[in-house]
Amino acid sequence: MIYLDHAATTPVPKAVADAMYTVLTEQYANPNAQYPFGQEMRRSVEDWRAVIAKAVDCEANQLFFTSCGTEGDNWAIRAACWQNRHVGRHIVTTAVEHHAVLNCCQQLEQEGWEVTTILPDQNGDISAESVLAAVRPDTALVSVMMVNNELGSIYPIADIAKGLKAVNEKTLLHTDAVQGFLKVPFSAKALGADFIAISGHKVGAPKGIGALYIGPRVRNPRPLLPGGGQEMGLRSGTEATAQIAGFAKAVELRWDHLEDKLRHMAEVKAYAVEKLTAIPDLQIIGDGKAPHVLSASMAGWPSQNVVNDLGSQGICVSAGSACHHGKSSQVVAALHLPKRVAAGVIRLSFGPETTFADIDACAEALRNHHNHRMPML
Ligand code: PLP
Repeated sequence: MIYLDHAATTPVPKAVADAMYTVLTEQYANPNAQYPFGQEMRRSVEDWRAVIAKAVDCEANQLFFTSCGTEGDNWAIRAACWQNRHVGRHIVTTAVEHHAVLNCCQQLEQEGWEVTTILPDQNGDISAESVLAAVRPDTALVSVMMVNNELGSIYPIADIAKGLKAVNEKTLLHTDAVQGFLKVPFSAKALGADFIAISGHKVGAPKGIGALYIGPRVRNPRPLLPGGGQEMGLRSGTEATAQIAGFAKAVELRWDHLEDKLRHMAEVKAYAVEKLTAIPDLQIIGDGKAPHVLSASMAGWPSQNVVNDLGSQGICVSAGSACHHGKSSQVVAALHLPKRVAAGVIRLSFGPETTFADIDACAEALRNHHNHRMPML
């Protein structure tokens, strides 16, 4: 199989599965238990938190485990709106956010909040100026993703954070860094965002684990899940110890020679651009600079047919984002592409394991699709 869908999820390395297996079978104590077996697990959980905090560049006590990126996004947005409910009931976000953000904002709209949605330019880029221009005295929250999951566009979070200080220093800033974490290195300390959501399964950890960084400007953050008081009272529920162990091991593995891995992914992406653009009717969409995501369209050949054809040959690519179950992509819609181009958008995404031979095979399958299947549009 040729797996070119690392932005959807990633394979779990054996060392990660082994670390999880040990926790499941031998170190299964509840970290909240008072006897030594439980206290040992508590120490391990805190060691694993420290590993991930180091990669985010924050203090360990600023990082809270969640079940996924979606949970971190929802928690951050709700917590920001709660803290700033007296500042106003206005949110600024973008049209190209993941549904974890868009649908949470939509829910808030139903509860009486006003949401301003910034549109990207034709390349899929969002400028700090366009975001800051929408901020008002009553803006409680700005939520802008770090890296777009369909285009690989990198958004200027640090500039937005800097600009917010001048425009409205009370406005809190959330960034969905699910596609940025360990792909576009950042430091939580330097970035200036108040909330940063990350997810394990995009970097070799199992599904079902994520984390949320909560910065010092967030006072008494509102728990998303009130209950038994885990995660410093902010996210109750017995810690998912095996997933946390897997997350830490995956981060440790990625962190090792990270620059080499990112350089390799960028080289694979550049090679894919070269190979794909040699195919008739195929064009690259957007100008995404993240090393692991490439968006392309074979104008006139519907993406779902391409995905199915390649899939039947064991080549996994996605039609836009795999997260929205066949619904048309809000990201593609926001680019206002010609209909034939928009309907043909596919996403290739890469990991440290992706080879140039994988790209050759994918390019050949795409060329065959073009030559032997009828365009339908
Ligand atoms: N945000 C972005 C940008 C994503 O790409 C994804 C998943 O694809 C998510 C959030 C949701 O993450 P999770 O699957 O961990 O809930």
